[in-house]
Amino acid sequence: MKMIPLARPDIGPKEIEYVTAVLKSPYLSLGPRLPEFEEKIARYAGVRYAVAVNSGTSALHLMVKALGIGQGDEVITTPFSFVASANCMLFEGAKPVFVDIEPSTYNIDVSKIEAAITPKTKAILAVDVFGQPANWDAITKIAKKHRLLLIEDSAEAIGSEYKNRKAGCFGDVGVFAFYPNKQMTTGEGGVILTDREEIAKLCRSYRNQGRGEAGTWLQHERIGYNFRLSDINCALGLAQLERIEELQEKRDRVAQLYFKRLKAIKDLYPPCIAPDVKVRWFVYVIRLADRFTKTDREEIQEGLRDRGIENRNYFSPIHLQPFYQAQFGWKRGDFPVTEHVSDRTIALPFFNQLSEKEIDYVGSQLEQLLR
Ligand SMILES: *Cc1c(COP(=O)(O)O)cnc(C)c1O
Repeated sequence: MKMIPLARPDIGPKEIEYVTAVLKSPYLSLGPRLPEFEEKIARYAGVRYAVAVNSGTSALHLMVKALGIGQGDEVITTPFSFVASANCMLFEGAKPVFVDIEPSTYNIDVSKIEAAITPKTKAILAVDVFGQPANWDAITKIAKKHRLLLIEDSAEAIGSEYKNRKAGCFGDVGVFAFYPNKQMTTGEGGVILTDREEIAKLCRSYRNQGRGEAGTWLQHERIGYNFRLSDINCALGLAQLERIEELQEKRDRVAQLYFKRLKAIKDLYPPCIAPDVKVRWFVYVIRLADRFTKTDREEIQEGLRDRGIENRNYFSPIHLQPFYQAQFGWKRGDFPVTEHVSDRTIALPFFNQLSEKEIDYVGSQLEQLLR
């Protein structure tokens, strides 16, 4: 049976042309495409500096390090996210402190943040989950009041807007990620976004073996990594960025077709968008009604797979990942809203080329399975 995949990149002739041009040049890495990509991403996000690295996870890691977050520090964040948004604290010996989510938008529940602040709290890291910006006015207010650093994991939200400002610019530092299932891709890649020059400089040094600004090849000022993004990847990113409005509009078309098709299906909640927010779509995640159990959800997922529809249980709570449970003793019941949502969500096939016929097929199969 031909499967409808969960995700698929949208690569056109421009991508192939730009990548080929790099392959024909002498500069496969640390060439001219890197600063060009960084400048254009910074302009797009509305920040002063962008530092490109080899993954979104590397971007999160370096910005945590550059902000001086480490041993003994706590960072408030959400358990309903991709695991990297909490792992980045563990890389540096800091502790993620989870706060439960809102049942409607699945973003961090701002009303519960202050209760989680302790003298060790150094930062708040909020995630724009599934492309929907968090409640940034309220989060910024809390961060200011308690003098905390503010971090935005906007890996899923490039182009999304909160009160007419683009995601990625709401914290001291933000990140985008460019794995092939995101709104735009570099194959693998990520970027650190900031207005703070010293943070950008530190991240540039950390990604390139701790070299100093002059870039003297065998002069290392601090311990660093090789988290560089090659010019091949940057060229792919530049082509995608030139097409970003087209890419986003195609995704919006698919999302709107899903909303229309699924509207009348009982027992199924489509994504819920807050006022003040414009979502640029990363994934399309539905939620089953409360009466369904986790086992019911798994059966429906299996049923969809049997009918040729790939799908995924976005997200599995971070606090219940085996090594988090082992290290911190978290258990089921600790973050009930996250667990309730997480037991009932299904990410449906979502990519630019998805046809109305395929969306209709997904809708009718869901209808049958929910009956
Ligand atoms: C994709 C993603 C990342 C980074 O992922 P990489 O695969 O390392 O590029 C980080 N946080 C969230 C919320 C993500 O969805």
